[in-house]
Amino acid sequence: VIVTFARTVPDGDYTTVLVDGCADGVRIGPVIETAGFPNSPAAAITFRDVRIEAEQILGAPGEAPTILKAAFLRERLLSPFPVLGFADHAIDAVLDFVARRRSGARPLGEFQYVQGRLTDAAVGVETLRVTAHAAIARYMGGVNASAEASLAKLYAGRVAVALASDAIKVCGSYGLLEATGFPAALADALAATIAGGTEEAQRDVLYRFLKTRGRKVRRA
Ligand SMILES: Cc1cc2nc3c(=O)[nH]c(=O)nc-3n(C[C@H](O)[C@H](O)[C@H](O)COP(=O)(O)OP(=O)(O)OC[C@H]3O[C@@H](n4cnc5c(N)ncnc54)[C@H](O)[C@@H]3O)c2cc1C
Repeated sequence: VIVTFARTVPDGDYTTVLVDGCADGVRIGPVIETAGFPNSPAAAITFRDVRIEAEQILGAPGEAPTILKAAFLRERLLSPFPVLGFADHAIDAVLDFVARRRSGARPLGEFQYVQGRLTDAAVGVETLRVTAHAAIARYMGGVNASAEASLAKLYAGRVAVALASDAIKVCGSYGLLEATGFPAALADALAATIAGGTEEAQRDVLYRFLKTRGRKVRRA
């Protein structure tokens, strides 16, 4: 099923339409090669005289902005969790590497510069964990957690990019081997800073939140 946003009246608000990818008039592809997120392939989709029944419309006509807003909010709230899953694995893998790999007679893990990269990564990951769970708790408590969701998504992207690139750096040329999963994780991390809303889009939400909060403080 292709979730499609289309205007049903000229210049009107968008309507959400569920289109069967195998329906007559739908053409998908070819897949465009991109870096990162191999399970989320990009391709051009064209529709020519595709018949749409009333039951294929999701929500009311013109309601797509509301549906999109709700979907993007959940996507932002959930975006830190794949990063946290990767982080636990990556830190364990790097700890294992620095215990085995030696510089002279000593394991790499005994050098403070190397330890510092791992402790900095842990600060980022654990701060992200708290931020992500706090945002979900606010949302589940019925609060409009848009600012918290944007903060969590923005920070998740930064942690993911830093973690993947630091994992490569600490492991040296070994870290560049595709088999470690780190180069793919770096590409995924960069893609994650774009998919579901770029860093600038998250900053925009946060800036609007700061302005609203400032107005409330000035009024009090
Ligand atoms: C892996 C992946 C999966 C995706 N999946 C989907 C999907 O399932 N469905 C879907 O609809 N889309 C999907 N997207 C598209 C994604 O939502 C967009 O790529 C994203 O919103 C950015 O839009 P853009 O690429 O057109 O960037 P552009 O809009 O061209 O922006 C380019 C740059 O300019 C910045 N910029 C743009 N406007 C402003 C502004 N006003 N102020 C400051 N900076 C600005 C952007 O932040 C960005 O850095 C996916 C993208 C990726 C990478």
